[in-house]
Order: sequence, then structure tokens, then C-alpha cells
Amino acid sequence: MANFILPEHYQEVFEALPGTFLLVLPDPDFTIAGVSEEYLRATLRQRDEIIGRPLFEIFPDNPDTPDANSTRNLSRSLQRVIATRQRDVMAVQRYDVRRADGDGFDVRFWSPINAPVLGGDGELLCIAHRVDNVTEYVRLTEEYAKQRSISESLSADKVLMEAEIVERSRDLDKANHRLQLANTELSEYARRARDAATNKDEFLAMLAHELRNPLAAMTSALQLWDIGTPDEARQQRLLAVCRRQVQNLTRLVDDLLEMSRIDRGAVALRRVRLDLRDIVDNAMHAVRELFGRHRLTMSTNIAPADFTTYGDSTRLEQVLANLLANAAKYSDPGGQVTLTLEPVPARPGWARIDVTDRGRGIPAGKLEDIFDVFVQVDPGIDRARGGLGIGLALVRAIVALHGGTVRAESEGLGHGSRFIVELPLASEAAPEDGANDDERHAVQPPRSPTHAAKVLVVEDNPDARDMLFSLLSAFGHSVTTAEDGIEGLQKLLDMQPDIAIIDIGLPAIDGFELARRARASVGRKTRLVALTGYASPAVQSAALEAGFDMHVAKPCTPEKLASILAL
Ligand code: ADP
Repeated sequence: MANFILPEHYQEVFEALPGTFLLVLPDPDFTIAGVSEEYLRATLRQRDEIIGRPLFEIFPDNPDTPDANSTRNLSRSLQRVIATRQRDVMAVQRYDVRRADGDGFDVRFWSPINAPVLGGDGELLCIAHRVDNVTEYVRLTEEYAKQRSISESLSADKVLMEAEIVERSRDLDKANHRLQLANTELSEYARRARDAATNKDEFLAMLAHELRNPLAAMTSALQLWDIGTPDEARQQRLLAVCRRQVQNLTRLVDDLLEMSRIDRGAVALRRVRLDLRDIVDNAMHAVRELFGRHRLTMSTNIAPADFTTYGDSTRLEQVLANLLANAAKYSDPGGQVTLTLEPVPARPGWARIDVTDRGRGIPAGKLEDIFDVFVQVDPGIDRARGGLGIGLALVRAIVALHGGTVRAESEGLGHGSRFIVELPLASEAAPEDGANDDERHAVQPPRSPTHAAKVLVVEDNPDARDMLFSLLSAFGHSVTTAEDGIEGLQKLLDMQPDIAIIDIGLPAIDGFELARRARASVGRKTRLVALTGYASPAVQSAALEAGFDMHVAKPCTPEKLASILAL
């Protein structure tokens, strides 16, 4: 085979090889015998400053890295090559390169391989040391490892965060649910507060009216007294009116105080051992006068049994008196009321008191509601009978304080009512004192004499009727009165008065109906004046629609009455 390169050029060939080569002698100093251009470039050295010099004197370890062991590793590898005459591949070494200006080292990583160069007779001429600069690779690997550990810890964090998010969203769900419940509760409170505010407003309007009625009756009585000295009999009647109205006012105020005490839970029962028969007797006594006035008869059925219990006698009497007063108020004159006291057959140890009337009755939809405060079957009419809608609420509260129950039964309007109280016997229960109600009145007198007119007064309240009669007569008018709607209509048709003053809340047919029928029969000959305790726009327009010429709210002052008659 031909020799293409002359032996004398081998040095140039070696130095120009595209690799990082060094030749070291196998002597104790590992003297540098040759170096490739690329090695010089990689290590920033000049050939003449390193040729013939000890390897580790030229390339020492970086003194700034005390744990550096590259020179030791290289020395051991070279020793192995000398010993074995075999090539020795070293692990990657950190072998920092001194900077050209001699000021410090640059970090470098190398992958070295040492191979023996043998002579023709097998002797070791030198050791060829070749390195690959793997600094970039090592950096990338380190960077990658770093990134990986970051991303691993990130993904571990992610898992934890996900778990936490799930947990938090569960908590959030629960909180939302609680919030929803709280919101619903709040809306319910708001609704109840609004209802309560409306009830209170209605109640205040009603209360003002109820207080005004007895006051109006008394004012009228006093004014009548003023007009001319009344004779003895008249004085007695006027005093009786005032006495009754004072009683009405007192009962009204007592009811209000009682209700407010029960509402605040400020009721203490004075319980004693008592006989329910005595309670029945006392309650009947309390309403005797009222029953007399309404021309009602009362019958009682008291079973022959032991009705001993523990209770507050004043309050239990109040319960029965309220029920009896209602029976009277909502019955037509001449009606009958029955009171029964008997053991409850299906409930040993309990007594039942039953108050039954044959009066107006209660529609099915109202049987339960009437036990709420201010609820009335027909507020316009019922209030005219002298009620605030408090009585039954008091009854139920007091009975409940005694551990008992009360309920109403009725076949409907026109079929009478039955109130049933059940109380435990000789055991527990009871509240305080109280009152009931019967009737309230309104009257207003005219004064300055006008031309004598034929006047019809339709008013079921005796005091109010009497006052109007007296005042109108005192001014020279010819006055006729009627007690209920039917009688009023009859008289209106018979006498065809100049003016008819008609109350709205009347028994039999109410004032609206009376006006409608009267208009249909007598046309506009008679002037119709509606007289009511309610001056609301709705009532006014209902009155005009029914055929009234005008609507006057009670109390109608004498001046107002005079001006109505002067028209
Ligand atoms: P009031 O003072 O208006 O009578 P209550 O609370 O005693 O108030 O009664 C509430 C309503 O129940 C009354 O306004 C009336 O409409 C109805 N009521 C009570 N008792 C009777 C009855 N015996 N017959 C018919 N309706 C009655």
C-alpha cells in the first residue's frame, strides 16, 4: 500500500486533527509531548508554553472548588493505561479552564478517553488523551433535571391544590346552601314584618274609630244636655248612655292591655282550685244585661259530674263571657243561646264547654282565622256591632295557657255558630284578668233650627239612634227611627222622608242594600245620607255607587248635621 503522507509531516497532521488531543509521556510528570490546535483553543493555551511541561502543572484543579478531583482521576486513568496498555474511558469530569488573563477559571465538563500509543516492538511511546467538551450538555442536563424537579413539585402542588379546590368548593356549596336557607328565612321574616306592619296600621285605624264611637256618643249626650235643661227622665237616659260608653271604653282598653300582656308573654296565672260550674255562673251573670238588651234567652245544660280544676277564675270567666257576648252580638234579637258543660266522652279527665247560638254563623273559610287578632268575618258590619277582633284571640291564648283548646264550628252564614272549649280537669293551666265587649255607639247632633224636615234615622245602635232622634227633634224636625235595614226600608217607602240618615252596618240588610232598594223604588225624592265610622275613599265611593247622595263619617258634629239638613 502506498504511503500517502510522509512520516516527517505526522506532527502537522496530528496538530491539525479536528479533535481535542493531547499526547503525554508515561513518565512520573506526565510530560506534555504534543497538543492539537483544537485542544489549545479549548484550553486557551499556547503550544510553546505547555510542550515539555508537566501535565498537572499546566492544568491544575480549580483552587476555588476544594472538592475537585479531576487531576487525581486523570492521573489514575493514565496510570491504568501504563499498567494495562489498554485504552481507558473516563466518566465525565469537571475540569475548569483557567482564563487566558489568568484571572480565575471557567467551568467546563469533559468526557476524556486515554489510549496507549505503542511502538513497533510494543513499548509504550506515549498516551493519547482525547477529550470532548460536554459542558453544554451537562448544563442542559442539569437545567432539565432542575426543570423536572420544579415541574414535579409543581404537579405535586397541583394535585394538592386540586384536592383543596374540591374541598373548598364543597365548603362553598355548603355555605351557599346555608346562605340560601338564611335568605329564605330572612324573606320570611321580612314578609311577616310587612304583614305585621300592615296589621298594625289597620289596627290603629280601627282603634281610632273604635275609640271615637263611644266618645262621639258621650259628646252628643253632653251637647244635648247643653242645648236645654233636660227633664229628669231624659237626664237619666243621658247618664245611662255615658255610663255604658265609659264601660265600653274601659273594656276596650282592658282587652288591648290584656292582648299586649299575652303577646309579651307577661301573663301570670293566679291558679286556684275551682269548680267550672262557678265559672259558668259568673260569666252568665256578667253578660246578663247584654242578653237582656238583645232580648236573647240563654239555656244551660250542666252535666252532673265533677268539674274541679286548677285555673285562673277571672280569666276563665273572661273566656266564657267573651264567647257569650259574641253569641249575643251575632244573634238577632229574640234569639237563643245554649251553654253546655259536660265531660269529654273520648277524653277522660277533660271538660267541654260549648256555647251555641242560632245567629249569623261563620263561613267555613273563616272558622280558624277568626282566632287571629283583628280578623273579622265582615269587618264593616262586625265593627259596627262593637268589636275590634281581639276577643277570640284572647280566648284562644287564655285557654292555651290553661293547657286547653278552643275551636269554632258552623254550617255557614245564616246557620248559627258553636264554640267548643276543652279544658283539662283538676290538673294544670291558667292566665290573669281581662274583659269582653258588647256594643259601641255613635251619635251626632245638629244645632241651629232650620225649616222642619221629615227625617228618617236608620241606626241599630240604640244610643246612637236615641241621640240622633233627640238632636234632630230638638231642632224642630219630624223624626222617625228604624232599628234595622228591613224596618228602615219599609218606613222609607211608607213616609218618603226629605232626608234619610242611614247607618251602614245594619242587621237584616246593610245600609248599602237599603240605599239600592230605596233608589229603585222611590227614585231621588229622598236625600240619602250614609253615616259610618269609616271615611275611606273605598267606602265613600261604594256609598255613592249604592245610591247615597253623600257620605258622612262618624262622629258627625252638630254643625255637620245642621249643614246636612240645611242643604
Ligand atoms: P269581635 O270583637 O269583632 O267580635 P272576636 O275576636 O271576638 O272580635 O271575633 C272575631 C270575629 O269572629 C267577629 O268579628 C265575627 O266576625 C266572628 N264571630 C265571633 N263570634 C261569632 C259568633 N258567635 N257568630 C258569628 N260570628 C262570630
